Amino acid sequence: MNDTYDVIVVGSGPAGSCAAWRLAQAGLSVAVIEKASLPRYKTCGGGLVGRAMQAVPVDVRRVIEQDCPTAQLTIFPSGVSFTTHRAIPIVSMTMRDQFDFTLLSAAQAGGAVVHQRCVLEDVRYHGDCVMVATSRGAMCAKFVVAADGALSTVARKMGMVDGRLLIPALEYEVTVPRDQLDRFHGIARFDVGVLPHGYGWVFPKRQHLSVGILSMTPRGNDLKSAMARYLDRLGCQGATQVEPHGFVIPIRPHRGPFVEKRILLVGDAAGFADPVTGEGISFAVRSGMLAAQSVVDGKLEEEAVRQAYTQAVDDVILPELRTGRWLAHLFYDAPRLRAWVFSRGGQRLCEAVTDVMAGTRRYQDLRVSPRTLFRWLTASAFTHSKYSPAQSRDGQAG
Ligand SMILES: Cc1cc2nc3c(=O)[nH]c(=O)nc-3n(C[C@H](O)[C@H](O)[C@H](O)COP(=O)(O)OP(=O)(O)OC[C@H]3O[C@@H](n4cnc5c(N)ncnc54)[C@H](O)[C@@H]3O)c2cc1C
Repeated sequence: MNDTYDVIVVGSGPAGSCAAWRLAQAGLSVAVIEKASLPRYKTCGGGLVGRAMQAVPVDVRRVIEQDCPTAQLTIFPSGVSFTTHRAIPIVSMTMRDQFDFTLLSAAQAGGAVVHQRCVLEDVRYHGDCVMVATSRGAMCAKFVVAADGALSTVARKMGMVDGRLLIPALEYEVTVPRDQLDRFHGIARFDVGVLPHGYGWVFPKRQHLSVGILSMTPRGNDLKSAMARYLDRLGCQGATQVEPHGFVIPIRPHRGPFVEKRILLVGDAAGFADPVTGEGISFAVRSGMLAAQSVVDGKLEEEAVRQAYTQAVDDVILPELRTGRWLAHLFYDAPRLRAWVFSRGGQRLCEAVTDVMAGTRRYQDLRVSPRTLFRWLTASAFTHSKYSPAQSRDGQAG
């Protein structure tokens, strides 16, 4: 095989497939190379928050197993709990085998050539082209979009300076009796503090629960023991089947640049997961679409594409991740401060983060900084006794 394309996209997760979809729509010749054969299991909670659903360019309703218009956050060890509701789903639950397959199929239907069971082994520049060595032969393209996930071979082979922070996470697919499954119906549940510097979650699917746990520290804690305790706490002892899976999430972005000559980093390869939640699909989709648009707008000219993508990442993604990191410190690194903050303005903070996840506000709109947080908390200290969830929809955290 020695094929030539305008763009080769490496990886068919949400970042890669959305990039390929957009490039094909614009009439460019595009190939996707993917080491697996889709549909395939992917270690992920499969929670599509509202802002991810808004960003996805194709209709994925068919693969939504359950909508959750309610989110519940409990803070441990106190056990104090906050519930938020929205008229639209806060999180829509899917399984990634079906979700990713739907996106890839849309890209293929739009004209992208898909090479599955095709492993990228090396990348090199060759004149104005990028040569890609794969397990099925060589290919070349004017541009490569690296959407090959948290362990990106492309970034490593090109010696792109990393700087990402990879944290460990477990996802167990848990089959429980129907009455236990029904307890979690329609609710995205988050339990902060069930392990140091981390949280657990329960995402209800059609026939089972996706139960996860993550630690915001790279070395993690003993996640398996923490998961066993968490399953006990949830009352899942009667599980009839448990499938354990684990992987990493990049919660701090690449040091940059995100474009190196003719190679663009997107999604987990760039480190674009949300630092507060570890949610990665929103910015995987956004960055894939932005990279594709930059190639289209830059008319395949190296410098124009570089400028367009750098600007897009600076404008759309990095400010959100920076503000998110601030909130993440508050959530995970200072349990006493967290307890104090939540005792005063917990509902308000949950409403604000729910709005960000639902896609109706951005972290930047919360204007979180040491000073504003202090002002906001001081104000909350005077008003929180009158506060009720019904009033909270209008609450502003900034
Ligand atoms: C336990 C866990 C739970 C999570 N839960 C959620 C959640 O509920 N919601 C959410 O939004 N995010 C969640 N995330 C994060 C989310 O899974 C990622 O952020 C998201 O998948 C990133 O998408 P991507 O397209 O960048 O990369 P990926 O989805 O990782 O896709 C990369 C693709 O590249 C392919 N690939 C890799 N190397 C090669 C190679 N050398 N050659 C060819 N192909 C290659 C892989 O097979 C894969 O298909 C979770 C992550 C973990 C670990």
